[in-house]
Amino acid sequence: MKTALVCGAGGFIGSHLVKRLKKEGYWVRGVDLKRTEFSPTEADDFVVGDLRDPVLVRQVIDRPFDEVYQLAADMGGAGFIFTGDNDADVMHNSATINLNVCDTAKDAGVKKIFYSSSACIYPERNQLDATTPVTAEESAYPAAPDSEYGWEKLFSERLYFAYARNYGLNVRVARFHNIFGPEGTWTGGREKAPAAICRKVAEAGAGDDVEIWGDGEQTRSFLYIDECLDGVRRLMESEFVGPVNIGSEEMVSINDLARLAMRVAGKDLELRHIDGPLGVRGRNSDNTLIREKLGWAPEQPLEDGIRRTYNWIKQQVEEAKQATVA
Ligand code: NAD
Repeated sequence: MKTALVCGAGGFIGSHLVKRLKKEGYWVRGVDLKRTEFSPTEADDFVVGDLRDPVLVRQVIDRPFDEVYQLAADMGGAGFIFTGDNDADVMHNSATINLNVCDTAKDAGVKKIFYSSSACIYPERNQLDATTPVTAEESAYPAAPDSEYGWEKLFSERLYFAYARNYGLNVRVARFHNIFGPEGTWTGGREKAPAAICRKVAEAGAGDDVEIWGDGEQTRSFLYIDECLDGVRRLMESEFVGPVNIGSEEMVSINDLARLAMRVAGKDLELRHIDGPLGVRGRNSDNTLIREKLGWAPEQPLEDGIRRTYNWIKQQVEEAKQATVA
């Protein structure tokens, strides 16, 4: 039986990845600061612990795992990573996790390790226009990410590749572009745009409006969790080390995303534009390289994923309301 360790297994992508690996027949250990929030973990062994602590990291990477997936990071949506208020923690916490995990994986003889980087590493200069953003993998340099979160991700990509060159660590690196789906953070300040918008639409009554940060004409693409995991697993099974984009090419404005959520919800609400942290003006995934190297790219329409996510968030909103009344 293949063995896998998922770092960040209490989080959104990590908890889904554990389920996926269990379906594929792996023995899985998960590790995270916190337990899964929305459904019980399916990991065979789940360690609650802090990956900034090198002693804990040695305890969880105690064998030459077939596969390690390093997803743990101090992160959130624009309201968390673009305000500047969390920069020191984001850089310190995530870099420390990666330094510990990478070095210990090398010592333990881990056979293959996946690192989740981000579209936030791409230079701001190529994303100033909402309609023609550039995110081809090689456009990352000369580096100029617009957030410290992006700088840490770029540093850590380089860390994993340095361990590959100097110590033969077998790495795979992907740059995720806005992953969304059920059982992701949907409230509390760390939620990302699709979840925040679905929540606002689900909470809105007749005559209410939906707040959108900025003019809403900033563009992004959003990838449904199942397709993200398809990409991760395909990359791990391939000989290609990356870095490679894992994202959707269906670019939409934030206003359009809100209109889509309203259509799915069957609600006709006004958009109200307010000041807020925005990030780059435009971003889309460029899937040329993943098509070339893996012969695959995500294809599900955004609407399908938003429908599933909206229904799940609507249920969370209703349960939260009932809990307040009781
Ligand atoms: P998430 O916040 O839901 O999961 C990250 C998990 O890491 C959390 O459960 C958190 O508790 C855990 N963690 C943080 N610090 C830790 C520590 N010191 N020790 C142990 N665990 C710790 O985020 P996610 O959306 O599941 O993202 C997973 C990875 O993918 C992250 O590295 C993130 O930067 C990257 N990524 C995500 C997206 C996205 O759209 N979700 C986009 C680009 C990159």
